Amino acid sequence: MNGRLQGPEGRALAKETLDLMERYDIAPTPENYAVFSCYTSDSLPELCEAISKRIESGEPFDQPFCDMLYSDHFAIAKIQEAVMASSGAMAKELVQVRETLKAAERHTAEYGETLAGAEGAFDEDADPGHVRDVIRSLVSATTKMQTRSKELERRLQETSSEVVKLRSNLERVREEAMTDALTGIANRKRFDEMLRKGRRSADTNNDAMCLILCDIDYFKRFNDTWGHQTGDQIIRFVAGCMTRNASDHHTVARYGGEEFAVVMPKATLPEANALAEKIRMTVEGKRLLRKSTSEDLGNITISLGVSEYRHGEAIEELIERADANLYKSKKDGRNRVTTDSRNVRSAA
Ligand code: GH3
Ligand code: MG
Ligand code: MG
Repeated sequence: MNGRLQGPEGRALAKETLDLMERYDIAPTPENYAVFSCYTSDSLPELCEAISKRIESGEPFDQPFCDMLYSDHFAIAKIQEAVMASSGAMAKELVQVRETLKAAERHTAEYGETLAGAEGAFDEDADPGHVRDVIRSLVSATTKMQTRSKELERRLQETSSEVVKLRSNLERVREEAMTDALTGIANRKRFDEMLRKGRRSADTNNDAMCLILCDIDYFKRFNDTWGHQTGDQIIRFVAGCMTRNASDHHTVARYGGEEFAVVMPKATLPEANALAEKIRMTVEGKRLLRKSTSEDLGNITISLGVSEYRHGEAIEELIERADANLYKSKKDGRNRVTTDSRNVRSAA
């Protein structure tokens, strides 16, 4: 732990962090605090540089920017930490296994020597007393050898279950680092990964693939009227409407602050259009009550843009088209779906 963060200096830094966050109107969430306390304590150089640049540019510290800082600098650091911890533990295990194997080798050699020493003890003219002694020592050496083999087996068993445990820990951390903390759906990193994966598979198998982008209408107004917490409740609500309608093989992701995406491998434009419409209607169809006071928040609506992958194009082009369609939905009055200009009337 950073020693400077303990004691009076730590408290002063905490105050400085909160003052800075207030000055730039940054919501005091744990993630935002983590980001900005690194800046005030000068901890992560790249993160500090990103924040300094933002201050210089005069652009606001909106939530999407804070989310990006958090996911870029903390999610990765978390994976790295887990990898380092796992690698350390794995290396320790391997050293122990090597030592156990070396000991087993030594014991096998000793056993071989005992056997070699027994040769000739069974000649016809051998002394029966000597034969008895040799047999005794052979029985005892064999028993020892059996015990050591069992020990070795147990030790190897332990190591392999330790390795399985480490691997599953690593997998869990990776999963966490790919999940959006507020909604529990995929984050931008997983979104990027799934889109790239979908594109590869579409190219290899000559399959279709579609993308839906979605943005909450007049979200700022909700935030300003009801506060950030209620804004977060609305974001969770929309994420829930999306996951309920999507299938297991779709990836529903939080693309930005109040923007979402669905990656639809193997889906055609009419199918994607149908899902977008279903999501839009689900969101529109529900009246939401403010959690803390049960006040009616009225209807929430979303605008959506759908695009279909054109074989060989860059992922950015697919995203740009979905974004342009989403923009058109906003311009045409919001609460609607705009799709790539192809025939989508045969929607399933
Ligand atoms: P439009 O219909 O044109 O989309 O209007 P809008 O008000 O929704 O405009 P815009 O999409 O630009 O609004 C984004 C706002 O979302 C700005 C930002 O304060 C807020 N926001 C972004 N991320 C979060 C978040 O995680 N929680 C909350 N409560 N608000 C967020
Ligand atoms: Mg937006
Ligand atoms: Mg919006």
